[in-house]
This record gives sequence, C-alpha cells and structure tokens, in this order.
Amino acid sequence: MDGQQFRSAAHEMIDFIIDYQENIRNRRVLPTVQPSYIREMIPAAAPELGEPWQVIFQDIERVIMPGVTHWQSPHFHAYCPSGHSWPSILADILSDGIGCLGFSWIASPACTDLEVVMMDWLGQLLGLPSQFLACSGGTGGGVIQGTASEATLVALLAAKAKTINRFKSIDSDVDESQIVGRLIAYSSDQSHSSVERAGILAGVRVRLLPSDELFSLRGETLKLAMEEDKAKGFIPFFVTATLGTTQSCAFDDLSEIGPVCHQFENIWLHVDAAYAGSAFICDEYRHYLNGLELADSFNFNPHKWLLVNFDCSAMWLKNANDVVDSFKLDPVYLKSDRQQGQSPDYRHWQIPFGRRFRSLKLWFVMRSYGAEGLRAHIRQQIKLACEFHQLVAKDDRFEIPVPPAMGLVCFRMKGENSLNTTLLKRINDAGRIHMVPAKLRGQFTLRLAVCSRYTESRDIVLTWQEIERHADFLMGQQLKKFFSTAVA
Ligand SMILES: *Cc1c(COP(=O)(O)O)cnc(C)c1O
Repeated sequence: MDGQQFRSAAHEMIDFIIDYQENIRNRRVLPTVQPSYIREMIPAAAPELGEPWQVIFQDIERVIMPGVTHWQSPHFHAYCPSGHSWPSILADILSDGIGCLGFSWIASPACTDLEVVMMDWLGQLLGLPSQFLACSGGTGGGVIQGTASEATLVALLAAKAKTINRFKSIDSDVDESQIVGRLIAYSSDQSHSSVERAGILAGVRVRLLPSDELFSLRGETLKLAMEEDKAKGFIPFFVTATLGTTQSCAFDDLSEIGPVCHQFENIWLHVDAAYAGSAFICDEYRHYLNGLELADSFNFNPHKWLLVNFDCSAMWLKNANDVVDSFKLDPVYLKSDRQQGQSPDYRHWQIPFGRRFRSLKLWFVMRSYGAEGLRAHIRQQIKLACEFHQLVAKDDRFEIPVPPAMGLVCFRMKGENSLNTTLLKRINDAGRIHMVPAKLRGQFTLRLAVCSRYTESRDIVLTWQEIERHADFLMGQQLKKFFSTAVA
C-alpha cells in the first residue's frame, strides 16, 4: 500500500466506522459466535503474497463483526463504559501517523511535554490538591499509564522499594528478604481484583478488609487491622482506597483513611478511582476527594468515562521521585547531552519502556468538548441511571440493595439467587441488552451501568421493558409450578 492507496482506503475506513457507530443501535449487543470461531473463517497461515486492500477490507464485516461485543451500543450495560469519541479517535490516528516511541524526552519532546501539561489540565479540572500537579513547581506530577492495574502496581512497587530503602538506611546489613516477607498492604474486600493481583506480582501480602454496610472501607477498620498486624511483627506499608468500586460503585471513606495512614507514618496511600474519577470534574461529586491531600498517588481512567478511547489511565504522584528512584536505569544509549531533569523521562514512571503519544487524546477531547461539555456528559449519564432507578423502584417484584451511584444501578428480583441468575442468563441469551452481575454479601445482583454516549431515555425504557419481559416470563413459570404442585 502506498500513500495514495492509503488515502482512499483511509477515507473508506472512516466511512465504515461512522456508519458502524451510527447504526450500532440495530446490532445485537452480544455476538452468538463460539470460541475460536475465527479459525474456521480464515487460513491457518499468513499469506505468502500480499493481498489487495479491498479483499482485506471486505473481511471486516465477514470475519470480525460477527464476533464483536458492541460496547458502544446504547444497550450495552455491562462492566463499565469504554470511552469513545470522535476527537479521541482523531488523536489516535495522529499518534499512529507520527509513530514515535516517547520513552525519553528527546525521543519525542512533544510527546513528553504535552503529557506534562495535559495532566495538569486534567488534574485542575478534578480539583486535585496542587502538590500533585507539575505546574505547582514541586515534586508532583502526572503520567499516563495504560491501565489502572498498572498504576496500582507502579505505586505498590515504589512503596515497596521506598520501605526497603528506609530499613536499609537504618541498618545497611539488614536482610532484604526478611523485610519483604513482613510487608503487608491493605484494601477493602470490594476493591478491584487488580489490587490483589498487584500484590501477587509484587510478591507482597495484601489483606482485604471488610467494608461497612454500604460497602465502604472505614478508617477505624483500617486502623485496627494495621495495629493488629504491627503487633504481630508485620510492616504495614501500602493502602489502596477505592473511589467507586466495580461491583456497586461504593466509595471508601478517604477523609477517614487519609488521617489513619498519616498517623501510622510511612504508609503509601494510593487512590483508585478508575471509573468514578471522571465525575470529580463536577463540583457536586468532588467531596469524595476530601482527604486526598494525604494520599501519595491518585489514579482514574479517562478511557472509561471521559470520552477518551482506551488506553489512557491518568495517574498523579505527590512525589514522582519515589517512583523514579525505584525503577531508574540509565544505559549508555539513553544518556543524552540534554540537561536531564527538566522534563520527565517518562520511562522511569512506568513498567514498559516504549510509550505511545496518548496525551493527544486528552488534548483533543478536552479542547473539543470543553470542561462544560465533559461535565454535561457525566451529568447526563448519571441522570439516565436515575431514570432507570425510578423504573425499577416502581416494580415491587424488584429490590434495590444499595442506592444507585454515578451511572450504576444495582437491583435484583426479590427472592432466591437462582431466580436472578436465571433472569440474567435469559437477558444475555436474548442478546438485545447486555449486563453482568455483582455479588453483594452473597446476594446475586444485577448491575446496570450506563455506558454508551449514545444511550438516551428511550434506550433506558427499552432496556427496562426487556428486563420486565423476562421477569414476567419467570413469574409466570413460578406460578405454573406453584399451581401444578398445589393440584398434585
Ligand atoms: C475498571 C477498574 C479497574 C481496572 O481498570 P484497568 O484500567 O483495566 O486496569 C480497577 N479499579 C477499578 C475501581 C475499576 O473500576
């Protein structure tokens, strides 16, 4: 393919994407293909000779689309949103067009310098304490990670290195493995699995603490656990607080947890707000951040709820040197004449070496929508969740185990778990809408997340009608069973 062929192919691809998005409403949300279905549809080996683009292009609809779960469908209500917008896609096209690896400043100065400023813009929109922002002139700053999982792991590894160094500075002969074996990290039993996984990857214990009746981790619980473990000879060193849990969008009490971590000293507090963090651009939700000034790192995913395409996970550090000092290696081919230290060499802030030009997405999206446009998006999605909540509340066959939060509504049919598992299975088998469950204190619960930016009130009504249709069927079946056993 040459440049001229790319020009026409690219136009065609853009048309395809626009048509796909504009008609996405008409597609079944969940595909019906079987695992490995693609093996049957394409050759077992790469072609020896290149194929014309037109032949390849036709295979998108034939091979790929039957196996796509349509995350941008207005009837997709599973997991959490996957950010998507036209300006963001333009940015990714440009990033691919430039094709740089921005691991150091000189490897592409624009890539690094735009990221520094975009992370300040974004941090200001959220009202983060100024110590987290590079523009404050201190040791803080932001970095774009691929995912929230990486952000948690980076924070955990930095805290681990910092703790080991602290013990070594007291006694240089201290046995490192002895310390590592005593380290203990904490999060709530509602935190995302990536927190526990970070512990496995980092080779340290993670203790999951019980949350309160609203699934929030409280300061007192954390305090007691750390005291207990300290008395047993463990070294508490890391806490992850979650703002907006995956299951029910619960908020750990940062205003209690921050002071507890501060009291204990040398505890790294990381805040995971992967989904709900986007809402903090709105004044009315910013109070969840009270206590953040006592945290060491904060992270949320613009690629979930802020109209930025995957991947773009925004992480801020109060003292970036904690991370840089933990991971820094400078082989000779990376030393440049430039005065190091003015702009960050972001490779020291992350696990991979190479990095894409992801800040373009933030730049294009924040400029195209403006802060007001982004706030309107968040508020609209929360409003739709409220509309759904009202529909559920009117049907007394259903119960709502936790108050709806952000764009998420947890609900279930009154009765056995099995009734609800059957309901959800019927809904997903029909494939017109898609949801995943939560398990809240042993109760199997359905979970409606407002995900697509195309979702409107009429889609919420349609979604509820679809759920009611299956509920009606199940109630009918129960009645039938009741009468047949009564007669027998
Ligand atoms: C989605 C989510 C994650 C995982 O996000 P990745 O970016 O895919 O790693 C972690 N924590 C919370 C609270 C989430 O909602």
